[in-house]
Amino acid sequence: MTAPPVRDEGEDRMEIRFDHTTLGQRVLFGTGAAATNIAAALRDLGASRPLLVGGGHAAEVVDQISEQFAVAGHVREVVQHVPAERARDAVALAQGADADSVVAIGGGSATGLAKIVARDTRLPVVAVPTTFSGSEATDIWGMTEDERKTTGTDLRVLPRVVVYDATLTLGLPTDLAAHSGLNALAHAVDSLWAPRADPINRAMAGEGMRALIPGLSGLRANPADVRANEQVLYGTYLSGVALASAGAGMHHKICHVLGGTFNLPHAPTHAVVLPYVAAFNADADPDSDACIAEALGALHAASGLWDLAREVGAPDSLAEIGLTEDDVDLAAELATAAIPDSNPRPVSLEGVATLIRSALRGDDIRG
Ligand code: NAD
Repeated sequence: MTAPPVRDEGEDRMEIRFDHTTLGQRVLFGTGAAATNIAAALRDLGASRPLLVGGGHAAEVVDQISEQFAVAGHVREVVQHVPAERARDAVALAQGADADSVVAIGGGSATGLAKIVARDTRLPVVAVPTTFSGSEATDIWGMTEDERKTTGTDLRVLPRVVVYDATLTLGLPTDLAAHSGLNALAHAVDSLWAPRADPINRAMAGEGMRALIPGLSGLRANPADVRANEQVLYGTYLSGVALASAGAGMHHKICHVLGGTFNLPHAPTHAVVLPYVAAFNADADPDSDACIAEALGALHAASGLWDLAREVGAPDSLAEIGLTEDDVDLAAELATAAIPDSNPRPVSLEGVATLIRSALRGDDIRG
């Protein structure tokens, strides 16, 4: 693990020592400017034959891009968790139609498919998010074959340009927006305990949380609030960058098992599990607990996250989204094996099983 600043007991000042890599990516952020910014991004990349992926929730943007560019092909139907067969079809389409770039307009599933095309063809991706998944900010790809999801990191899949436009998230159903936004918040929180946590990604995570939390409350009060949508997109980006830089921690490992092995839905699973992981780590990492609590305006991270999840309409428990008591032991076994050593509190099979069981019931952890 990269060392965070170390407090020298003999001095007031802290020694600062870390090894941080900042990934190169252009971000164009502007409400109502998606089509203009996509066009500018493509031209600056020297691209003129984009493969379009997704776009079902942004018909006007798709029309405007199609009028200006010789679109090489359009993969309209996008499926969660990137089934390998569909990914191979998209790669073949890009190659057969001589595409010189990929424009993904949609949630994490559209971005995820574009990433596999980029991995296999080296084409540059312009990502245009319509949810708060944050996938656009990471060099992490995922693909599912024979009911098993494989993930990896590869710089070729990092979108070269991200185009954020808050008008594209205005149509998100309220629950979907809440779950997706809590998924973004989980990126920031989990990065604090991740293997490559350092002061730079910590700063990104802190600012990400301070944007996401009020933004999510604002969205709940009024989903059509453009400024709240902007705030959540801004926080989503920072949190995704923090996660990409720091790596995945305990929370993501648990959610990955729950999604991959038990087919629980991605964003709602994150929304339910996060307060329980915060409670698990609270005493072992008081600095991170205080950082999260401060952003929430709460006394403790876990209770603040628990309240926020209920305020914005997250599911109450893992049972509500499909996990059963019979699944707990296997889930705990698989997750325990994957949790990185960087986790501040030592992890045991029994501890992880207790955590998952608590989230399964939706225990009130406010103490
Ligand atoms: P998603 O892309 O599957 O979208 C969820 C639903 O929302 C879909 O039905 C979609 O059609 C709909 N939708 C999207 N935008 C909409 C809009 N503006 N209005 C109305 N409906 C809209 O789900 P997601 O939560 O965005 O992404 C989840 C996927 O992303 C998972 O496969 C997950 O593993 C992946 N992911 C990857 C990373 C990474 O770094 N690689 C990070 C986060 C998530």
